[in-house]
Amino acid sequence: MKALINIDYTFDFVATEGKLTTAEAGQKLHDDILALTRHFVDSGDFVVFAIDWHEPYDQYHPENRLFPEHNVVGTVGRELYGDLAEYVTENRHDPKVYWLNKRHYSAFSGTDLDIRLRERGITEIHLVGVCTDICVLHTAIDAYNLCYDIVIHEKGVASFDPVGHEWAMKHFKNVLGAKIV
Ligand code: ZN
Repeated sequence: MKALINIDYTFDFVATEGKLTTAEAGQKLHDDILALTRHFVDSGDFVVFAIDWHEPYDQYHPENRLFPEHNVVGTVGRELYGDLAEYVTENRHDPKVYWLNKRHYSAFSGTDLDIRLRERGITEIHLVGVCTDICVLHTAIDAYNLCYDIVIHEKGVASFDPVGHEWAMKHFKNVLGAKIV
């Protein structure tokens, strides 16, 4: 069994006016991520939206020192970018579509993702979203440590740092044993 993990494809990370945007690099992924999401749902596979969840004034969060405020609860910044938003709204009652709020880079950190995957017998996870070298990378590392097979969709990931993106793509393949498709 396999699952698609959609990471942080939100307004703040993708839209031109987003707070921490990948801009064009992220916007280019839109059609592929949407098509892949539809394909997984239509094939009966599990699809997870693992989305950054930041509270304003969360003084203990280490990201405060590193990045501008982004994906704040209750703001447009946390909404999915483009047609993905409407797709998820339409399919929100589908048990195959699961929304996961995450506070850290990795979709596994402090969440029930591992349990949700294991109870469905899922052993292979497909990753799309942003940023390649931050949240996608940290999710892939945790997945590696939890013994999942990892598939990275090359046309489904991007970063605001092109050097970081290239480095992470090599790391997925050569160090985490991921399949790049
Ligand atoms: Zn964040």
